[in-house]
Amino acid sequence: VYIPEEGRGTLCISSQVGCTLTCSFCHTGTQKLVRNLTAGEIVGQIMLARDDLDEWPEPGTGTGEGGPRLLSNIVLMGMGEPLYNFDNVRDAMKIAMDGEGIALSRRRITLSTSGVVPEIAKCAEEIGCLMAVSFHATTDEVRNKLVPINKRWNIETLLNALREYPRLSNSERITFEYVMLKDVNDSDADARRLVNLIKGIPAKINLIPFNEWPGAPYERSDWERIERFADIVYKAGYASPIRTPRGEDIMAACGQLKSATERARKSRAQIAAETGASGAA
Ligand code: SF4
Repeated sequence: VYIPEEGRGTLCISSQVGCTLTCSFCHTGTQKLVRNLTAGEIVGQIMLARDDLDEWPEPGTGTGEGGPRLLSNIVLMGMGEPLYNFDNVRDAMKIAMDGEGIALSRRRITLSTSGVVPEIAKCAEEIGCLMAVSFHATTDEVRNKLVPINKRWNIETLLNALREYPRLSNSERITFEYVMLKDVNDSDADARRLVNLIKGIPAKINLIPFNEWPGAPYERSDWERIERFADIVYKAGYASPIRTPRGEDIMAACGQLKSATERARKSRAQIAAETGASGAA
């Protein structure tokens, strides 16, 4: 998913087809894991987008020379948990960062995790990109429901790992992603708890108005509520941008990605059953 903005262009890429995790606000979470993407397929998303944007180096110039880039930033925030496909994600990002490859600075790459604690330090050491976390709740009780991996590594354990990340990766700050769900995690008390929890961690809090999908069990918080929440966080000294919903019209906004693979597979299986055909497609 390419997100053009003033002065930069961000490509949101996927690391898996489907996901093993079942975050309850996320459409992808309703689809089982089909498979991990290979390093080539992860880099392929970048190459495809650059080709589509017609962004190729001029003959005689190195990659990345010749004016501002259309595709200037990468976020690993598409389908899947990147830290559950660590080796392929690492290899792909090495190619994206290599001066002989796509030559993007590691500070222009952000990996978002739901909180796979044992892999966080490894990510700092072996990739060294910026880190974002799907945080979304301020108590274990609520986070267990929204991001069930929290039952394995709770908020305290996660925050301890994140506290170490900037030092290990020599990066400035952690981005906390926080989806705004009406009457679930959007109260003033939540905002205050959030700033208390992250005290001491250099951080930015991205507030994401919930993007609905068919059968979603949540509603988007009211706009005034989101602004009030942002205000409390901002006054506590943290940048708290509210992400403009983009891509909803094509079901490609945050948390809406789901592939048609399952549906296509089912119909192939059905046809095979009806016609008596067999074999993989
Ligand atoms: S939010 Fe990320 S980790 Fe959670 S189910 Fe969706 S794709 Fe998987």
